Amino acid sequence: MDNRKIVLVGTGMVGMSFAYAALNQNACDELVLIDINRERAVGEAMDLNHGLAFSKTSMKIYAGDYENCADADIVVICAGVNQKEGESRLELLSRNAKVFESIVTPVVKSGFSGIFLVATNPVDIMTRITFEMSGFPQHKVIGTGTTLDTARLRYMLSDYFEINPRNIHAYVMGEHGDTEFVPWSQALISTKPLFDVINHNKDRFSLEKLDEIEYMVRTSAQQIIKAKSATYYGIGMAIVRIINAIFQNENSVLTVSSRLNGEYGINDVYIGSPCILNASGIKHVLNLTLQRDETKKLRDSASVLDNSYKELKL
Ligand code: NAD
Repeated sequence: MDNRKIVLVGTGMVGMSFAYAALNQNACDELVLIDINRERAVGEAMDLNHGLAFSKTSMKIYAGDYENCADADIVVICAGVNQKEGESRLELLSRNAKVFESIVTPVVKSGFSGIFLVATNPVDIMTRITFEMSGFPQHKVIGTGTTLDTARLRYMLSDYFEINPRNIHAYVMGEHGDTEFVPWSQALISTKPLFDVINHNKDRFSLEKLDEIEYMVRTSAQQIIKAKSATYYGIGMAIVRIINAIFQNENSVLTVSSRLNGEYGINDVYIGSPCILNASGIKHVLNLTLQRDETKKLRDSASVLDNSYKELKL
C-alpha cells in the first residue's frame, strides 16, 4: 500500500495508547483523529506531532472529520461512554449502540470501503452492531476480541514455564469478558502439548496452576482497573498488532472477534476465536478440534453474547 491511512474514532485512553504505539512502530503513514470532543482530538494530534522529531517515521497526524474516512484503509473505533452509577450493563450497551450509530453512519456515508476494527466494550457485541449498521461484508468488520487476553495468557505461561512467549501457542476463546476460557487441549510449547510438558515434569509443574493462570487472565482487567482506573497500553499494542497483520498481508493467526457461520456449531455471533488475518481482513476462521467440554464453553459464551445482543432491540 502506498499510503497506509487509519482513522481513529475515540481519542481517549485506549485510542491514544493505540496512536502512540502506532507512531512508535511506524504502523501507518497517515493517522486521522476524530472525537466528539474536537478540542481533545486537536490537542492529541499536536502532542503526537511534537514527538515526530524523535521518531523514525514521518507520519502525517491531524484531527479530522468523517469525510476523511473516504480513502482510509482502516477505521479503528475506540469511542465509548462509561457506566454511570446504578446503570445496568444493558443500559450502558444501549447508550454505546447510540454512540456507534453516530459513528458508523457517517463513516459509511463518506464512501469508506476499508476495514472496521472495533475495540469499544463490550467488544463482541459492539462489533456485531458495527457489522449490522454498516452493511459491510463480515470479513471487513473485526473486533479486538480476545487478542489482548491471549497475549496475557502467553505472558503468564511464559513466566511459569520459563519459555519465550513466542514459543507458546495457546489461545483465549469466547467473549472478551466473564465467559472467556482457555481450550487447554490446544495449548503447545513449541510442538509439545502443554499437558505432556506437565505430566513429564510433575516435580516442577502442576495442572492446578493452569486454573490459576486462566483465572488471572480472566480477571486481569478488573485488577488493573482497581489499581489505576482503566486499562489501555496492552489493548493499544494489540490494535497495532492486528493492523500490522492487515497492512503487511501477514496471514497471521490472532484471536480477533469475527462472525461465525457454523464453526463450532455457532451462527451469526461475533466472538473471539483464532482467525487468519491478511490484507482482506479476516481471511479464514479456524475450526479447531476442541474437546466436548471446550465446545460447550464456547457455545455457552456465544449464547450469552447472542442474548445480550437480542435484548438490545436496536
Ligand atoms: P475514554 O473515556 O478515555 O475515551 C472514550 C472517548 O470516546 C472519549 O474521548 C470520548 O470523547 C469519545 N467519544 C464518546 N462518544 C463519542 C462519539 N459519539 N463520537 C466520537 N467520540 C466519542 O475511554 P477508554 O479508556 O479510552 O476506553 C474506550 C473503550 O475501550 C471502552 O469501551 C473500554 O471499555 C474499551 N476497552 C476495550 C478493551 C479491549 O480489550 N477491547 C480494553 C480496554 C478498554
